[in-house]
Amino acid sequence: MDSQKLSQFEDLKKRAQNCTKCPLSETRSNVVFGEGNPDTPLVLVGEGPGENEDATGRPFVGRGGALLDQALKENGMSRKHVYICNILKCRACVTEFGKRRNRQPTPEETAACLPWLEQQLELIKPLVILCLGGVAANILIHRDFRISQERGKFFESNIARYAIAALHPAYILRQEGEAFERARATLVEDIGAARRKVIEAKKETPVQPTLF
Ligand code: SF4
Repeated sequence: MDSQKLSQFEDLKKRAQNCTKCPLSETRSNVVFGEGNPDTPLVLVGEGPGENEDATGRPFVGRGGALLDQALKENGMSRKHVYICNILKCRACVTEFGKRRNRQPTPEETAACLPWLEQQLELIKPLVILCLGGVAANILIHRDFRISQERGKFFESNIARYAIAALHPAYILRQEGEAFERARATLVEDIGAARRKVIEAKKETPVQPTLF
């Protein structure tokens, strides 16, 4: 990414951090724009911030983040090698009995927020997008995406050369015993497949980012 694009990316981030395009702006603590290397060929996209992410302004923190970091590490990568963000930039939550809990975003909230992600991807121009969870895959790969049947498969995409989906770390954490180990192994495997696809895709065209 050249300096002009980097400055556009920073400008985009500043504008997103002040966004009031949907009602989630009223309950958020922080906008979670994304983090990592905007000059990467591999972007990971989740559904939206949860409690820890809202509190810190960072995507995938807490136990889910640690699981994701470990899966990246087992593939020889860290957050410095990828860019991590979400479809939604603010936490969708409801207050019940004085406590906030996560809820599904409404279609209107998702539609209001998607242009931020589209602009991020337009500047990053990734070769491969890895959707974390079925919700991101439904939006970015195809509407009827079935995570149980289609995770780990590559799709041609108009937002990157290829898109693939993996299980969401939060889903993996809800599994126990062998089911947890199996689900965790698929995340490591799918990140590895995405990394190898980047290497393949780079051979298809000569001018690409140089991190891999
Ligand atoms: S969720 Fe997206 S559209 Fe809604 S206020 Fe936050 S940044 Fe803006």
